Amino acid sequence: MSAVSSIKDLIKSFMLTELFKGMALTGRHFLSKNITVQFPEEKTPLSPRFRGLHALRRYENGEERCIACKLCEAVCPAMAITIESDVRADGSRRTTRYDIDLTKCIFCGFCEESCPVDSIVETDIFEYHGEKRGDLYFTKDMLLAVGDRYEPHIAATKEADAKYR
Ligand code: SF4
Ligand code: SF4
Repeated sequence: MSAVSSIKDLIKSFMLTELFKGMALTGRHFLSKNITVQFPEEKTPLSPRFRGLHALRRYENGEERCIACKLCEAVCPAMAITIESDVRADGSRRTTRYDIDLTKCIFCGFCEESCPVDSIVETDIFEYHGEKRGDLYFTKDMLLAVGDRYEPHIAATKEADAKYR
C-alpha cells in the first residue's frame, strides 16, 4: 500500500466517511415503502407451477385417476414413491399401495410430468410440517384426502397453467 493511500485512509477514518455513508443509506430507505411481508397473515402470490405438497386426484364420478402404471415411481430420482398394484374385480388395475416419503422427495415435479392421467400432482400447499420422520410419509389415503380437499383449487391452478404447456 502506498503512502498516499494510507494517508487517504487515515483521513477517511477521522472524517467518519464510511459511517456517514451507511447512515445516509439507512436514511434513504427509512422513509421508502415497506416491502416486508407479514407472513402468515400476508402472503406473496404463488405461480400455478409451484411445487408443494403432493395429492392424488379423482375424476368427477369419484373414481381415482391413478391406473397404477408406475411411471411416476420409475421416474422419481429420489426413489421416494412406492407403489403396489392389483387387478380389481372389474378388471381394472389400481394401486393397493401408493406412498411418498416426503423426507426423500426433492420436489422436482417429475412424477407429475410423467403421469398420463393427471393423477399425482404437486399442489401449491407449503404450510405443512412433520414433527417426526413418519409424519412426512404420505400414504395413498393421505394423498387422496389432500386431493379430495383441494380439488377445485388444484383444477383451477392446472387450468391456469395449461396455456403455457
Ligand atoms: S417431486 Fe420428484 S422427487 Fe418428489 S416424488 Fe415426485 S418425482 Fe420424486
Ligand atoms: S400416479 Fe400417474 S404415473 Fe403414477 S402410477 Fe398412477 S397413473 Fe401412473
